Amino acid sequence: MANIDLESEPNAKSAIKAIHVFNTGWGEQHKEHRYGSKLPQMWWVLTSRSWIKIPINAFLIEHDAGLVLFDTGLDPAIASDPGYINSAIGRFLLRRIFRLHIKPEDKLGRKLDGLGFAARDVVKAVFSHMHFDHVGGIADIPQADLLVSEREWAQLSEPHPEQEWILREHIEIPGAKWRPIKFSQTDDPLFAPFGGCHDIMGDGSMILLPTPGHTPGSMSMLVRSEGMPPILLIGDLTYEADLLFNDRVPGTGDAKQLRASFAKVTTLKERLPDLVILPSHDEKAMRNLETALKNKSAAIAA
Ligand SMILES: [Zn+2]
Repeated sequence: MANIDLESEPNAKSAIKAIHVFNTGWGEQHKEHRYGSKLPQMWWVLTSRSWIKIPINAFLIEHDAGLVLFDTGLDPAIASDPGYINSAIGRFLLRRIFRLHIKPEDKLGRKLDGLGFAARDVVKAVFSHMHFDHVGGIADIPQADLLVSEREWAQLSEPHPEQEWILREHIEIPGAKWRPIKFSQTDDPLFAPFGGCHDIMGDGSMILLPTPGHTPGSMSMLVRSEGMPPILLIGDLTYEADLLFNDRVPGTGDAKQLRASFAKVTTLKERLPDLVILPSHDEKAMRNLETALKNKSAAIAA
């Protein structure tokens, strides 16, 4: 777990006190899934024997107004409940796409306990997208507003969302406070290339930006606070930030949309050179965040 306390930062006067990276278990995905392949997707899904270990990360931001999550990880029930996924074809494909290593103690509420927080103090959870490894913790935070893009939410009304791994049995749970959000037009040159943005706290500390490609409604969140470098949480837009800058698309998603989103993130990085980009399934995320925050503190101290 990477626990970054910004209170020790003398110049920090912002509404964000700290950001934490934690995982809700581990998985394995195929090399072709992570790094892309010239083969048709169903071919490598059924034939690939190469597996790469990946964390199922989520992020916790301590804001003056309460705790904010970016994604909620995987529900350990996926390992213990044979009927966790309703469709038989879904269960078949899941075994070919992922190997999962998840224990009861990986449940969101228990992970937050381990960080010294209570799940009941989460006021908002932002979802990069609605795949099962990102929405698995919502039962632990019934009081929280669940923020998802309107485009992502619309998939539930389209035919066979389960074919896109949008599984209503994990999303439409009783009492869940889903809040589909609309991006607003903006003149801010930083965000204009994205075609809109949404400021979740009204103070500029957490800005949602559409970054479609992995799913049509995928979004990223820019976290900004004095005393820390700007951080972009990008969900599954890429599995490793370097791949994005090398224009290497993964083996799933819409390649054209992915490349367009890569270009927007690259432009953002040019405008914010110390921007730290953190994907949800990158083992280096914790180390990269710690290093960036240390470098920033050192620069301020100097
Ligand atoms: Zn994922």
